[in-house]
Amino acid sequence: MMLEDVYKAMEKIGCLTLTTLDGDTPHSRIVGICGCDDEGIYFLTMYVKPFYRQLKKNPRVALCGIYPSSYKTGKNAVGQPTFAPGFTLRITGEAREIPEDEVKEKAEAGSRIHKYFLEDAARYPAIRFFRVFKGKGEIFDFDFEMEHRDHKLLRSRFSFGGERFNEPGARINPEACTACGECFEVCTFKAIIPGETYRVDGSRCDDCGSCFLVCPQDAIELSETI
Ligand code: SF4
Ligand code: SF4
Repeated sequence: MMLEDVYKAMEKIGCLTLTTLDGDTPHSRIVGICGCDDEGIYFLTMYVKPFYRQLKKNPRVALCGIYPSSYKTGKNAVGQPTFAPGFTLRITGEAREIPEDEVKEKAEAGSRIHKYFLEDAARYPAIRFFRVFKGKGEIFDFDFEMEHRDHKLLRSRFSFGGERFNEPGARINPEACTACGECFEVCTFKAIIPGETYRVDGSRCDDCGSCFLVCPQDAIELSETI
């Protein structure tokens, strides 16, 4: 998945939460993302804000959003709330302030994002421009009622700026699996693929752990984070 596609998902969401660390205390706030190019994802803050000071001390950031807003649409056959199909997006990475001369250089070279920043900075001189220059993340596309397809999830992971990600989902150790089929019976996400030994399609797996709990061979390994 390209960064451009990630940014399209961000535009659909609108504003996202952005989390920074103040010591070991996380702080989240809603931000508008200014844009994206081959070098990363851009946002603004002001150097007079705690947000700025947190970023300068610790560049680690996390972004998160959902589309559409997750309102409940009703109840399913077993009384659980139902949701309209949509997706969540999350990214963990690092952000860096962009020096003024670089902003001007890129604006002169025609970058719309950098021009936008300069226009804003003319009105609000305390504004500072940041880029999430490396990171990894996931788009978690859900259709829990299977309105548009025959399975609930489609998870896609991505990385940029030299980061690497772990594939999503639980894993089955083929050395330990005896193909008894118990995991297949309990997986409501259609993520288990039968065969000589069974496999998990990680893009469909919710990490719910039902298979892990029933496997008589302890053949199932839980997923790793992004
Ligand atoms: S429950 Fe365990 S042993 Fe049985 S098919 Fe699934 S992974 Fe293999
Ligand atoms: S963790 Fe849950 S969703 Fe994933 S394969 Fe196991 S039962 Fe299916």
